[in-house]
Parts: sequence; structure tokens; C-alpha cells
Amino acid sequence: MATQTTALQYRLEQKRNINGEFPGPRSQELAARRAQTVAAGVASGVPVYVADADGAIVTDVDGNSFIDLGSGIAVTSVGASNPAVAAAVREQVERFTHTCFMVAPYEGYVEVAELLSELTPGDHEKRSVLFNSGAEAVENAVKIARVATGRPAVVAFDHAYHGRTNLTMALTAKAMPYKSSPAGTFGPFAPEVYRVPMSYPFREENENVNGKEAAERAILAIEKQIGSESVAAILIEPIQGEGGFIVPAEGFLPRLAEWAREKGVVFIADEVQSGFCRTGEWFAVNHEGVVPDLITMAKGIAGGMPLSAVTGRAELMDSVHAGGLGGTYGGNPVACAAAVAAIGSMKDLDLNARAAHIGSVVTERLQKIASDLGEKNIIGEVRGRGGMLALELVLPGGKVPNAAATKAIAEYCLKEGVIILTCGTYGNVVRLLPPLVINDEVLEDGLNVLETAIRAQS
Ligand SMILES: *Cc1c(COP(=O)(O)O)cnc(C)c1O
Repeated sequence: MATQTTALQYRLEQKRNINGEFPGPRSQELAARRAQTVAAGVASGVPVYVADADGAIVTDVDGNSFIDLGSGIAVTSVGASNPAVAAAVREQVERFTHTCFMVAPYEGYVEVAELLSELTPGDHEKRSVLFNSGAEAVENAVKIARVATGRPAVVAFDHAYHGRTNLTMALTAKAMPYKSSPAGTFGPFAPEVYRVPMSYPFREENENVNGKEAAERAILAIEKQIGSESVAAILIEPIQGEGGFIVPAEGFLPRLAEWAREKGVVFIADEVQSGFCRTGEWFAVNHEGVVPDLITMAKGIAGGMPLSAVTGRAELMDSVHAGGLGGTYGGNPVACAAAVAAIGSMKDLDLNARAAHIGSVVTERLQKIASDLGEKNIIGEVRGRGGMLALELVLPGGKVPNAAATKAIAEYCLKEGVIILTCGTYGNVVRLLPPLVINDEVLEDGLNVLETAIRAQS
């Protein structure tokens, strides 16, 4: 039975414990120092400062322990200090920390590329290139698609999130806080980016629209407003992350991929958040058997070390001339060693099965809460796959977004020692991204707190 991770030894006791004042005196002291030196534009969801983290527990500088249901935004799937990752990093830093792969190459980079060829969907010939962040991977996937097709346009979707650099801001849908500020704009943005309608089953005007019809709606917009002959790529998150954990209707992704193939358009799956066992498969596209031409990866790939990748069809990837892709730190040897160890742990601990287990436990629990609440129910929808789950909160009896309850629930959970994240175009989605190595007792305890928080808002 793949319901319990027994192979992983935790270093910290897996238990929540809030003792006394919150945030405590040491955290308050650090917050005061931070206010004098750290830019205000980088905000933190949690007011405490971290001392240690392991498995699904984060401890702070005042001795409080929190259950982590966010994984640093879907990053620490194998745990926050996975012993195999720590050992691989230690071993690598003692040999060399950097040579720059563009100057003097090393085995770790090649090893990661081999693993990506093995794990990404499709049995075609593949090539990979490594970078540092998700945004950088997305930018480079677009560069590759443009050179491979000789076309300029890139299609993105409503509610999309692809990063915070200039091109990826253009690709991202939500203005505040990513693209604009009450004081002005982060633009002008990169040109030749077009946005078309997503499949968002919960908020479809016509509830009967199926996935294929939603895809035809997007395709019509592309063909009429851009022209397929101008389109280099369509870029899509198979399950949207920051936009609200939106799972498109079944058939949406396969139809888009089929259309792209017919028109010579590169289909890019942005799996930066949904990849590496998060949804109970190596990649979220696997749930519908979709094989992307290019796939972007980051967050979960290296147990917390900064690493990202683009993997894709050899003929597309190799259309770029030598020297056309790269970066000083891309595929850093320490990050590569961490990725090899993290991927090894995902296999050893069968984290796909763990994610599927988490998905069924959490979904069942949340659906029961929704039905128990009856007329006072604020849970509009429970959705997601595996360890990527969300609650869209609404005013009872309708679909009006309930951002106030969302915020209150996250705050309540935090005070009780449970870190949860929110997201969504309307700020009304509670998202759960537990480390996939969380044990059943800790998950249960976290859900108890979440349930109390939801009931208090209903
Ligand atoms: C987080 C995210 C990005 C950006 O990754 P960074 O590492 O923050 O640059 C891009 N795409 C998706 C789907 C993401 O979730």
C-alpha cells in the first residue's frame, strides 16, 4: 500500500507547536531589521523567521513549529531538507561549486538532461537546456519556438502565470501585483503576446461547454485575431497555478495540442508548478496523454536548489545555433547534484503514489465539509489533482468570489501553526501544496485546522 512514506527519516519532530507570543520576539526583531534594509516590494506571507525545516515542518527563531502546506510554492516536494539532497549537495560543494557549463562542462548537467529525456512525456528524441528560474525557462522556450518556426506570436491564456521578467510579465494575465502597481506600471511589456480564453469549468457562463468546445473557442480567437501562420507557440499551464489552480475541462489540452500539430505551432506546457510528481504523475499533461513539443520545469525539480529546464523535441531544440542559449549560472553543478538526488528520492519514495493518496484524502475531507455546511457553504469548488489542490471560496448560494474569507482562513491557520497559500485571479482560492513526504497524521492535523477555519467563516 502506497499510503505512507516509511523510507524517509525525518530529522525534526513532525508536529505543530505554537508557544506563546506570535510572532515571537526574535521574529519581531528580525522584522524591524528587515524594514530598514529589504525592499518593500518583496513581501512575505508569514511574519515569522525560519530557523529550520524538515519534512512537512518549518520551525521559527522563537521555537514555534508550523505544518507546511505550501512547500515554498510547490518546491520542497521531497521535504525541506531531504537527506539524499543534502548529501549530494555537500558532496558537490566540496569538489567544485561552479565552472560555468558554457566554459567548462561537467557530468551533472548531462545526467539531469538524461533524466529529463527519460521522465518527460513522449518517446521521441529529446534535448534539454538548464537555467535558474521558472521565468528563465519560459523565456527560453519562447526563444526556441521563435527560432524553430521563424514566427513571432506567442499565445497565452486567461488567468495564466508565467513569471515576473519582462517577457513573462507580458505572458502573465493578472495585473496587480505582477504587472502594475498603484503607483504605475512595470511595462511597457514585450510585444507579440496574445491572450485567449481558458477553460475554467467553475466559471463558464454556459455550464455545458465541454473541453473540446472550450478549445475551439480559443482556436477561433487565435485564427481570427492572430492567424495561425504568425504563431510560434501556444504556452499553457496544464493546471494553472497562481491563476487559481484551474483544471481545464477534459479534452481541452488534447484538442489544443492536436491543432498546434496541424498548424506547425509549438505546444509548450509550462509545468513549472505542476511537474515532478506534484499531481500524481511526473507531469500534469500525462493525465490526458498529451505530449508537448517543449516543456518548462523548475519548482519541484531540485529539492529547493535553484534549477530550471526546457526539454523538447530534438529538431526544435537543436534549431538554435551554438551559443544562442545559456547563462552564467544555468545548470549550476550544485543544483544539478540536488536535482539528481531529488529525482532519485521521488522514485524511491514513489511520490506519484503519495501525491495521489494526498489528493484522495484531502478531496474527500473538503467535499464532506462543503456538504456538511449546507446553505452556509462557502466552498464553491474543490479541485486539483494529487498534491495540487484548491478550494474556490464564494459567498453562500452563488459564485461571487469571497476573497475576505480566503484571507481570514489563511490568517487563522497561520496563528494555529499551519502555513497555507492563497491564489486566484479574484484572490479567493485556498491552495494546498503539501510536501509530498508529509505523513498522514500531520496532514490530518493540518486539515483539522483548515476545517475549523472554514467553519468559522461560514
Ligand atoms: C512559479 C512559476 C513560474 C515562474 O517561476 P520563477 O522560478 O518564480 O521564475 C512560471 N510558470 C509557472 C507555471 C509558475 O508556477
